[in-house]
Amino acid sequence: MKATVISQHDCRARDLDDPLAPLRLRFDLPAGVIYLDGNSLGARPKAALERACQVITAEWGKDLIRSWNTAGWFDLPKRLGNRLAPLLGAQAGEVVITDTTSVNLFKALAAALQMQASDPARAARRIIVSERSNFPTDLYMAQGLSAWLDRGYQLRLVDSPDELAQAIDADCAVAMLTHVNYRTGYQHDMAAVSSHCHAQGALALWDLAHSAGAVPLDLNGAGADLAVGCTYKYLNGGPGSPAFIWVPEKHQARFRQPLSGWWGHAAPFAMDPGFAPADGIARALCGTQPVISLALVECGLDIFAQTSMEAIRRKSLALTDLFIALVEQRCASHPLGLVTPREHARRGSQVSFTHPHGYAVMQALIARGVIGDYREPAIMRFGFTPLYTSFADVWDAVEILRDILDTLAYDIAAKRDAVT
Ligand SMILES: *Cc1c(COP(=O)(O)O)cnc(C)c1O
Repeated sequence: MKATVISQHDCRARDLDDPLAPLRLRFDLPAGVIYLDGNSLGARPKAALERACQVITAEWGKDLIRSWNTAGWFDLPKRLGNRLAPLLGAQAGEVVITDTTSVNLFKALAAALQMQASDPARAARRIIVSERSNFPTDLYMAQGLSAWLDRGYQLRLVDSPDELAQAIDADCAVAMLTHVNYRTGYQHDMAAVSSHCHAQGALALWDLAHSAGAVPLDLNGAGADLAVGCTYKYLNGGPGSPAFIWVPEKHQARFRQPLSGWWGHAAPFAMDPGFAPADGIARALCGTQPVISLALVECGLDIFAQTSMEAIRRKSLALTDLFIALVEQRCASHPLGLVTPREHARRGSQVSFTHPHGYAVMQALIARGVIGDYREPAIMRFGFTPLYTSFADVWDAVEILRDILDTLAYDIAAKRDAVT
């Protein structure tokens, strides 16, 4: 099949036709930068600056401690969780924004193992299934929790999504999976995997770090059991902004997590020496939150409220299709290998290509204003964020990549930075 040759003019025409194009104005992006790393750190909503000033000068500066009540600080994890819920296919009262993804995974996995352990028919299960290619912190947290519990829990890691069905068997307590793989952009079929888990008596815990705000989600419809994820990636919450945890209503009464701090207490200000978990999603909380950072998450959510995940997905697939097609047309003579699935249903909102000198090529791209990132082994990763990436950006990024590759304008001895 011969694809038609795409021109710069075609890309510009698509921008004129793009219903999401005006939303780019809600972000502050530096001139001369094509930002293809919103999957790692989302761009800054313009409103975040004013909101930060308001929290710091008025709420903290003038109202001081009264702001826990008057500015609604205390309710932020739940109120913002309710605003995020529709993007996840969750209901109000099922999501809180709090802590980090790593910490929320710890809480969720501990709770899931405890739910299984308290069911006599499932109490003997000791296997946690995940993927070797999962983001390392997920595997590290599972290793740390298993060692701490000292009950013989073991990670069973598969090397390919095709092996999951076999690995999730009658010994499996929990399948802990990342819905969209951070390196390859592979997207699991959440409903199919969750239903396989249930047929085997296992629970399905999903990490949505590369899914929330990137692809439409239907946690309740898919029958997932628990989920966590980041707000600083596609949700544009700001560097290190608090993460989220989803506990569906069906599991809330049985959900017990070990970080039983006072924010998860039924009556935090009763100052009772004994812990009693709050009813509902508040039991997923631990302690006092970074209010300034948490408050800014709302600026990203406000932008999502201007559109729908369906419109975002339509443009995301158009952007990633265009990027793949242009790289294949214009960089055809170079040793680039596509690792992201071509099949739409299996693709997140990023495109990854391998190149033998991937790190050096990515450094050269960044030096010329095309910001993606690099992940071992040899993977150049490009994230596409429909709220602020244009079709013309995709054209320009590929032209710069082509020029770097054609002229060998990269330094294969480039020194590694701490954060790649
Ligand atoms: C980005 C990411 C994380 C990050 O966890 P932090 O606790 O925020 O550092 C965790 N898991 C996955 C799958 C990720 O992609």
